[in-house]
Amino acid sequence: ATPTALLVGTGRGAQLGILIKGPEVLENTRKADTVLLDKTGTVTTGRMTLLALHTADGTTEDEALRLAGALEHASEHPIAQAIATAARERLGDLPPVEDFTNIPGLGVQGTVDGHTVVAGREALLADRAQHLPAALAAAKTTAERAGRTAIAVGWDGAARAVLEVADAVKPSSAEAVAELRALGLRPILLTGDNRLVAEAVAAEVGIPARDVIAEVLPEDKVTTVQRLQAEGRTVAMVGDGVNDAAALAQADLGLALGTGTDAAIEAADLTLVRGDLRSAADAIRLARRTLATIK
Ligand code: ADP
Ligand code: MG
Repeated sequence: ATPTALLVGTGRGAQLGILIKGPEVLENTRKADTVLLDKTGTVTTGRMTLLALHTADGTTEDEALRLAGALEHASEHPIAQAIATAARERLGDLPPVEDFTNIPGLGVQGTVDGHTVVAGREALLADRAQHLPAALAAAKTTAERAGRTAIAVGWDGAARAVLEVADAVKPSSAEAVAELRALGLRPILLTGDNRLVAEAVAAEVGIPARDVIAEVLPEDKVTTVQRLQAEGRTVAMVGDGVNDAAALAQADLGLALGTGTDAAIEAADLTLVRGDLRSAADAIRLARRTLATIK
């Protein structure tokens, strides 16, 4: 292998908006046959908005939004920002949160106005013996079938609200998936979000339901990469979140979006500066061309 050709390859990458950690990365870029795509912030824009709010009998919308908004104000998750922003727009200043805890891949908990408030996946509330009343459970399923993420909110020992949030699929994501497939890779959608939501997003970008891995906890993203590697696959993973960092490091090739978190960028081998998934296909084409020149 001539070092000059490798350097030319990495230099060309920089022009394409692909930052390569070192020339040795190109070999795994060429070999990848499977590509795991994180959903939120990678396939979708990650800019979420609150679309609807459902409350249990005896709970007002303002009360639910005030407690959930105050709690989520302490979190950096895109879902949290959507909820906190909507709450501030409607209610103005929000009360402070104490004893804030982030439960990765599940949700958040904290004390607001003397209430212990929990927001996140239904399972997180169920762990605290807070179960959704039938009407809220039905609203949640309807929202998820439509590709929206339903956040359950509970306080004072009961589940009392469901908030619907959604973000849009990036305009270039479907094309990127098609390009990756044309290059011989198998795109798989990997997410901590609910299965119904994940399948709705996957359908939008041309990934079949059998290639959707949903409801995965952050630590299980690593296990997913390892399982595919044990099956003999060379795994590329594209992600943006703190939650993706360990899986990006475990993958044969980790690709971080330049729009993503520092943790993801540090763990990855390659950074796609533009935050556009099509750059992942560009990187693979570049690696193949560069290494073909060398042989
Ligand atoms: P993804 O893999 O799609 O980026 P995450 O692993 O970050 O998703 O989160 C998985 C799920 O955990 C979310 O869909 C949401 O239901 C819940 N969750 C995570 N963080 C929060 C939060 N701050 N507030 C509410 N729910 C959250
Ligand atoms: Mg993400």
